[in-house]
Amino acid sequence: MTDLHRLSIRELAEGLKTAQFSSRELTQHYLNRIAKIDSHVHSFVTISPELALAEADAADGLLKSGMAGLMTGIPLAHKDIFCTKGIKTTAGSKMLDNFISPYDATVVAKGKEAGLVTLGKVNMDEFAMGSTSESSYYETTRNPWALDHVPGGSSGGSAAAVAADLAPIATGTDTGGSIRQPASFCGLTGLKPTYGRVSRFGMIAYASSLDQGGPIARSAEDCAYLMNVIAGHDAKDSTSVNKEADDYVANLNGTSVKGLRIGIPKQYFNVAGLDADVKARVEESLKKLEEMGAILVEIDLNMTEAYVPTYYLIAPAEASSNLSRFDGVRYGYRCENPVDLMDLYKRSRSEGFGPEVQRRILIGTYALSAGYYDAYYVKAQKVRRLIQQDFLKAFESVDVIAAPSAPTTAYKIGASLDPVEMYLGDIYTIAVNLAGLPAINAPVGFDKDNLPVGLQLIGNYWSESQLLSVVHQYQQATDWHSKRAAIAEENA
Ligand code: GLN
Repeated sequence: MTDLHRLSIRELAEGLKTAQFSSRELTQHYLNRIAKIDSHVHSFVTISPELALAEADAADGLLKSGMAGLMTGIPLAHKDIFCTKGIKTTAGSKMLDNFISPYDATVVAKGKEAGLVTLGKVNMDEFAMGSTSESSYYETTRNPWALDHVPGGSSGGSAAAVAADLAPIATGTDTGGSIRQPASFCGLTGLKPTYGRVSRFGMIAYASSLDQGGPIARSAEDCAYLMNVIAGHDAKDSTSVNKEADDYVANLNGTSVKGLRIGIPKQYFNVAGLDADVKARVEESLKKLEEMGAILVEIDLNMTEAYVPTYYLIAPAEASSNLSRFDGVRYGYRCENPVDLMDLYKRSRSEGFGPEVQRRILIGTYALSAGYYDAYYVKAQKVRRLIQQDFLKAFESVDVIAAPSAPTTAYKIGASLDPVEMYLGDIYTIAVNLAGLPAINAPVGFDKDNLPVGLQLIGNYWSESQLLSVVHQYQQATDWHSKRAAIAEENA
């Protein structure tokens, strides 16, 4: 079969179960596509064909014996931030270019238990800091829709791999939009779960109070399948919540769009940098939801202006602390011929970290330093609480909140945005992380250059099933999610 990569996760699972094809055939099909097409997209940092085929054979054994689970034998790509025993985990950094973890992240382990097949590890901004994947130490990942554009970030490799049909599904992480924004830039569906829903164990930390793993896929249905595997409590992560995960697949039709109250924050649609095409496509998608029975309600989110400054104090502060472990002593990059311990620390960190990571460590260290701690860090934490309260108040009158996922479509590679311009592009995503809420991106059309536009729906705590269900129904009524970039149409 030459078109296995066109099947949904549900169709792949059915095909495997009814022995229309084996996991080995399916896995080989994706490996062939990666071998042929990824030289144009550069989504993978590490391809693991031997491991993949061994996992595929094991999955085929389970399928034959009737012991298979819902997703046994389905391939996936992991963001290179999830530790994988036996294969490199780089976090997109020279610092970890030689790092092989002695253990699996819980997300990876759960994938293995479910019989998923690991195709390899995909590219990302260095330590997940960025919005274009360009801060990676590795090749610049391309947007499958326009190879001279970025796929977004930080989970740009995850989005590019799925959009080019090099993997049917991928894991990502979202600290301030890194699942939703690349999903938006690449025309995909991506879910950032409630903080605590997916284990952070073995996920290299950027900003621990904001980081959360989740799926990037073509559709809400595909995301639901991966959520069924990765969501749940984990004793190894003290911030993972001891609350049973939903059956996201079974709940796909559980929420009715009829009567659903969708909040439209006034402030969000008056943001200066909001692109006219993005605004138009998002408004059209809301009109469609209204036709399907949703009630659009104008709401206020008054803290909008505080989002970027608050996030860009808290995230770097936590990063500066998390990244202090990379000192050239225990693992990771070590400079050559250090003269003494101080020289070892200094040069290992200066040579091992790229400029964006160093910038954030400096900002974060400054914000946490004696004398500035109260003025910056503590103040930011107080504003963070106000942002959360603003959302909770809104959820008293609406079920979900709609927004663009990003103010623009994908940037051109090397657009040389200065850091502040780049940070402003995160305006629609970062407040969700500050509040710990779940949110989803769904593709809703294209701009004048044929680049994808995404709608974001933000839900109340633990409303992943509701968000997936609303997007699933939108996707039953529209076909933006099934549009494919020209490069994905190529056969291997
Ligand atoms: N673009 C944001 C940042 O650079 C978000 C990144 C993320 O979610 N990991 O911090």
